[in-house]
Amino acid sequence: MRETDIAIVGAGLAGSLAATMLGRAGHSVTLIDPFASCPADFRCEKLEEAHVETLRKAGVLDAVLPASLRCDEIWVARLGRLAEIKQITEYGIDYSTLVNRLRSLVPADVAFVQSKATDVAVSPERQTLSLANGEQVSARLVIGANGVMAGTIGARREISRCHSVSIGFDVDSSRWPFDALTYFGEDPVHRVAYLTLFPLPSGGRANLFVYRELNDPWLKRLRGNPAATIAESLPQLAQFTGPLRAAGPLKIRPVDLAMTDNVLHPGVALVGDAFSTACPVSGTGAAKALLDVERLCNVYVPAWLATPGMSVGKIAQYYNDAEKKRSDAHSFQTSVFAKRAALGQGLLWTAFRWGYFAGSQARNFLEHGELAEMAGRAAPARIPAAGFAKA
Ligand SMILES: Cc1cc2nc3c(=O)[nH]c(=O)nc-3n(C[C@H](O)[C@H](O)[C@H](O)COP(=O)(O)OP(=O)(O)OC[C@H]3O[C@@H](n4cnc5c(N)ncnc54)[C@H](O)[C@@H]3O)c2cc1C
Repeated sequence: MRETDIAIVGAGLAGSLAATMLGRAGHSVTLIDPFASCPADFRCEKLEEAHVETLRKAGVLDAVLPASLRCDEIWVARLGRLAEIKQITEYGIDYSTLVNRLRSLVPADVAFVQSKATDVAVSPERQTLSLANGEQVSARLVIGANGVMAGTIGARREISRCHSVSIGFDVDSSRWPFDALTYFGEDPVHRVAYLTLFPLPSGGRANLFVYRELNDPWLKRLRGNPAATIAESLPQLAQFTGPLRAAGPLKIRPVDLAMTDNVLHPGVALVGDAFSTACPVSGTGAAKALLDVERLCNVYVPAWLATPGMSVGKIAQYYNDAEKKRSDAHSFQTSVFAKRAALGQGLLWTAFRWGYFAGSQARNFLEHGELAEMAGRAAPARIPAAGFAKA
């Protein structure tokens, strides 16, 4: 039996950050994951304001950012037209690079066990984890950070099966007139949430989010002929990018909305996707995972370890944390609403989309002036593919 104060199940985004923070704080920590390093995977590939803010509070931002590529301006297109040029900072970063960067920060005295947790027996004092390699780990606190594979603790409930499908691929960005572009679906019939084009350190990257079933023939057509299928679903896109061609294989990932019910147990706290998933369209899943860990490790764990026991009352403090509740609610509402807004038919939803477009243009005009001028200024050295930036 391996003895530790805190056992962290899962060394993905949330688990690696938790191990780093708690290890740095001098706690006795054991981190468990079947993979020695995070394998390549198509997941969150951008750090936005919320991610950056939480990484800063967690004390790891300066170590993470050198692995990313910064972008300070994003063109936003709605209804097939440029609606806004946003002066905001985002960082493109490959997911496994991000997780492995966090893993490299985990202090050496945090024990790592390369295995899978298969079961947990809980009590108000100590928890016992059973691992696939036959080992057992006894801990005062178990942090469940095992992502969508959660289920060892509590009951997993599916809220929306295949809520959306995410498609990621490399693209040649050398002729883009912008640094980054978010291009919303033009018409509900296309079932597109949005396409985002942005720079990663390795080159141009495209993330396309659609609302389709996995057996939809559209996905088969996309695999067979990505350029033609994208052009058919985003008819006005070429004015910004020219024909959009994939410069590598397509990664296609369906995402379910799911959450764990009955989470209140002594000595166990769930973080990130293990608690609940978000739709990638909302761009909130990773931010939510990071916030869970920051609140848990900065605010609650130090206080819990300072007194005996690990009762349900202690664990409830974390689940009732106001910032966590706000972040969970925002993530869920955005995940559900984005789908309605993209697929909604009829006068009301059409008016809503035009209202958004007009609001974006008005905001842009008030804050920065004419769009056409801005687009011309944005990347003078670049050759626009066609259309707007030249006009
Ligand atoms: C295609 C896609 C695009 C996305 N885009 C965005 C985005 O733009 N913005 C955003 O904020 N979010 C985005 N997300 C969501 C975000 O990536 C996730 O919410 C976040 O990565 C969850 O992190 P996590 O640590 O909870 O899980 P993970 O990083 O998945 O970590 C889980 C870890 O647990 C380990 N594990 C599993 N089972 C066990 C076990 N039994 N024992 C031990 N270890 C185990 C796994 O090996 C893994 O290392 C996207 C997700 C997808 C799928």
